Amino acid sequence: PRKRNDLIVVASLIDRMPNLGGLSRTCEIFNASRLVLPSLSAVSDDTFKALSMHAFKWLPMSEVAPALLPAYLFGLREQGYAIIGIEQTANSVSIEQFEWPVRSVLVLGAEITGIPQNLYPLLDACIEIPQFGVTRSLNVHVSGALAIWEYTRQHAVKE
Ligand code: SAH
Repeated sequence: PRKRNDLIVVASLIDRMPNLGGLSRTCEIFNASRLVLPSLSAVSDDTFKALSMHAFKWLPMSEVAPALLPAYLFGLREQGYAIIGIEQTANSVSIEQFEWPVRSVLVLGAEITGIPQNLYPLLDACIEIPQFGVTRSLNVHVSGALAIWEYTRQHAVKE
């Protein structure tokens, strides 16, 4: 069987199909072990499928609704995963400095509102990507892709 990286990508807070479909493609290419969607019904959406380019067929996926996220993350933490949020906050660590634990869960924020306050106590770390322009934030799939690449660069499992 295919050997995957011990990286779980949590996209439960993301609403837009292009972002979810694009993430499924990035996760499959970089050998993430799982992509967590707000609902598996996304997989039958035409925009999701168009952006995924069939990648989702080769990627384990599951659904966790936003309301169930605290319990889900708590469970993964008990299994020994580090829960890593990606968000611009006063306490975030720069992605350039961050050393990824082998067993990591990457939590992405919602498109408009980011990571809600009630999830911060569950995070072992929050990382941010340094920005140099005027625009307030990166697209969430772009942010996720940069983080997944950085994890992969540090730990890549070759098949
Ligand atoms: N919190 C932003 C809006 C969210 S942007 C605001 O206040 O305007 C959508 C998501 O993309 C964020 O929740 C985060 O997960 C990710 N993101 C965007 N830019 C980022 C950056 N520079 N560093 C880390 N994450 C970023």
